[in-house]
Amino acid sequence: RWAAATGPRRVLLASPRSFCAGVERAIEIVERALDRFGAPVYVRKQIVHNIHVVRDLERRGAVFVDDLAEVPEGSITVFSAHGVAPAVREEAARRGLRVVDATCPLVAKVHAEARRFAARGDLVVLIGHAGHEEVEGVLGEVPGAGVLVEDEAGVAGLRPGRGVAYLTQTTLAADEAGRVSAAIRRRFPDAEGPRGDDICYATTNRQHAVRAVAAEADLVLVVGSANSSNALRLTEVAARFGHDGAPLARLVDGPGDVALDWLRGARTVGLTAGASTPGAMVDAVVAALGGLGPLEVEELRVTEENVEFTLPKEVRP
Ligand code: SF4
Repeated sequence: RWAAATGPRRVLLASPRSFCAGVERAIEIVERALDRFGAPVYVRKQIVHNIHVVRDLERRGAVFVDDLAEVPEGSITVFSAHGVAPAVREEAARRGLRVVDATCPLVAKVHAEARRFAARGDLVVLIGHAGHEEVEGVLGEVPGAGVLVEDEAGVAGLRPGRGVAYLTQTTLAADEAGRVSAAIRRRFPDAEGPRGDDICYATTNRQHAVRAVAAEADLVLVVGSANSSNALRLTEVAARFGHDGAPLARLVDGPGDVALDWLRGARTVGLTAGASTPGAMVDAVVAALGGLGPLEVEELRVTEENVEFTLPKEVRP
């Protein structure tokens, strides 16, 4: 407990935070598939990168697999929000799987850009993080014509021998991705980038909000799972944009991960959540902080969101 004499601790909630339209849609697709076709519904990879979402859907009859080979022929199979390479679609078709595609439309847009650039003969440079499913899906669109760069050093190592175009993963930190794309344009002045921005609206808005919160907070808690790209980026952005140097910024999957010693001396605690984190997990962290002493909870809203995506026809009402 902190001394009552110092007054209540302030919790500053970043807004927007938590679920984006692509995640809402992906979860709804699995729920509707379960309702319409009955359990089990197979899902290739985690539908979104959050362990609470995955466990909840498992309880309702979803079966998560890493590889389509684990799915019995003819079964209902959902592709996750992060998208898949064409080779995965072909395998599903070969095996007679009944596919419902939960790829976020904003990820599908990056796939389409990659195909367009590769079709005119360019080397497609994808700025992103190795091993992420979204990166595997996008590069899978342009076999032999795509390359991943993670940072400015990666740009220096490029030997294209043809025109260059670049794209980005949807969940990158905007400031970092901007530095890498600037390095590409410096080295290849004719390089064409995406129309608009590949970093999606939800990533952008959550990063703006956490920056505003970090500027006032002594500690920033980001609720999300460790394999969530956008939650990791929120943690890094919070650490970079704190007042008086970096505030302590921590990624927690839920209230049980919050260590008491982080809270020592933290009068203002900033709180946000990745786009794949349920709002209930944020509420649980607030409740846990409230259990330690009096709280004043405020929301810092930097923008409104009203994006909605339509459902695929297989599960449309
Ligand atoms: Fe789509 Fe962006 Fe959400 Fe990813 S974070 S699912 S790209 S809206």
